[in-house]
Amino acid sequence: MPDTITRRRFVRTAAGAAGVLLGGRLVELDALGRPRLPQPSERAWRALARDLDGRLVRPGDRDFARLRLPWNRRYADPPPMGIVRCATERDVQRALRWARDRRLPLAARSGGHSYAGFSTTPGLLIDLGGMHRVDVDDATGTLTCDPGARNTMIYAALQPHEVGISAGRCPTVAVAGLTLGGGFGFSSRRLGLTCDALEAARIVTADGEVRTCSATENPDLFWALRGGGGGNFGIVTQLRFRTSPLGDVALYDLAWDARHAPAVMAALQEMVRAAPDRLSCRMGMGSDGRAATVTALGQLFGPVEELRTLLEPVLATARPARQLIAQRTFWQAKEHFFHSTPVDRFAVRSAFVTEPLPEAAFDAIARGVARYPGSRNRDGGGVALFAWGGAIGRVPVDATAFVHRDAVWLMALDASWTGRDTRRTVRRNLDWLARLDDEVRPFASSQAYQNFPDRSLKDWRTAYYGTAYPRLRAIKRAVDPDGVFAFPQAV
Ligand SMILES: Cc1cc2nc3c(=O)[nH]c(=O)nc-3n(C[C@H](O)[C@H](O)[C@H](O)COP(=O)(O)OP(=O)(O)OC[C@H]3O[C@@H](n4cnc5c(N)ncnc54)[C@H](O)[C@@H]3O)c2cc1C
Repeated sequence: MPDTITRRRFVRTAAGAAGVLLGGRLVELDALGRPRLPQPSERAWRALARDLDGRLVRPGDRDFARLRLPWNRRYADPPPMGIVRCATERDVQRALRWARDRRLPLAARSGGHSYAGFSTTPGLLIDLGGMHRVDVDDATGTLTCDPGARNTMIYAALQPHEVGISAGRCPTVAVAGLTLGGGFGFSSRRLGLTCDALEAARIVTADGEVRTCSATENPDLFWALRGGGGGNFGIVTQLRFRTSPLGDVALYDLAWDARHAPAVMAALQEMVRAAPDRLSCRMGMGSDGRAATVTALGQLFGPVEELRTLLEPVLATARPARQLIAQRTFWQAKEHFFHSTPVDRFAVRSAFVTEPLPEAAFDAIARGVARYPGSRNRDGGGVALFAWGGAIGRVPVDATAFVHRDAVWLMALDASWTGRDTRRTVRRNLDWLARLDDEVRPFASSQAYQNFPDRSLKDWRTAYYGTAYPRLRAIKRAVDPDGVFAFPQAV
């Protein structure tokens, strides 16, 4: 797959041999163009396996073929040399020390959803997907999770207690990656980001030690864990959140023919501007290469009559082809919102929009999406706009490492394809995405969402972290002086 090649940065070593920058280290290539990594002996692998409460999975073992794959198959190769399927925090410490002492690249994976394949490595994959306990404590009003707990598991644990945190909409995204890069969902304008509710975390740092982080213990690291991005400072082994009471919601799920896109999106923007924080909105326009649709989805913590009043001007703009506006419990609504892109290949670019979008922006989106070239992936390509603000914007910009507090929209542009698509189709999808990005970027800020990492982003330090970057670098130097946690966009 050409993507495997383009994601590496080929360089020449001082001696003139071909090399590749892997995880920040220059690694020589062998005659077949594969990175020449340290090769631990079979004895060393056996010793690691014996030491684990969980299990070591190596090429040829049952489950290797499944466990090695990231969500975005674009980054499936090269495969890891081994996978530690961690069962305990001690496993995380052992795996980390074992790889570090052999100078083997490593990566942590909780849910494996990194858009840019940052939870992949040709070295040792430290897989936390099997650590997924979730406990809710009514007395303290807290939720304590293992790093690999998925959105579905978190909602299932919270439901009997009728409390919530702001979690995401993909059933299988794991809490560690979600929280470390911010984390938003349909409750975020009311409850803040996932990371805003974090009260404490346990993390195994590069020295193999466990550190507890909170406002009073390791406060710098605690600040960094709230938005400083996954994979940068160590491996998080536990997260504790403050929960909030919930109530019933009214949900809306609307779709229109694409010709109404600019007018409908402008009306939705007006609705959100005037609405209380209790309202969420994801509006978007997508195409499968044949037909395009404009959609709006969200919920209001409140009665359905209030939602109907808010939506009135939008519905007056154009009659939806599909319309659902209904009162639901919070738990029914989250089931309705659950959505997962097909596990395959995709590219995403993101930008935060800090001023209301003018008509010209909606025109550009409509024209761009209408040009989508198509692929075999039923998700196709499109633009999604997530209403920002509310409780997200009330957190001071320097209170956490998540700096995108003044946005009105988070914009995401995506293109998807499959392994059966031709190189030409892949190229056309990527070219389409780049051109669309050029056309809509003038309407957005230079900030991008660190949980939608994008390898094509040049100034990613400023885009993801803005004014937080110098402090993040200082914390990184303190907890990971040798760059054990390294990947193409590592702090
Ligand atoms: C289908 C889909 C839907 C999505 N929907 C939303 C959404 O609604 N809202 C939203 O905010 N985001 C959403 N995202 C983005 C998502 O938040 C990020 O991809 C997130 O980083 C995924 O976390 P993960 O643990 O599943 O992924 P992983 O790939 O396992 O991890 C992501 C990054 O964190 C690192 N990491 C993983 N575990 C740990 C750990 N325990 N300690 C330290 N570092 C770790 C990895 O090395 C990697 O760099 C979505 C992504 C997908 C693919």
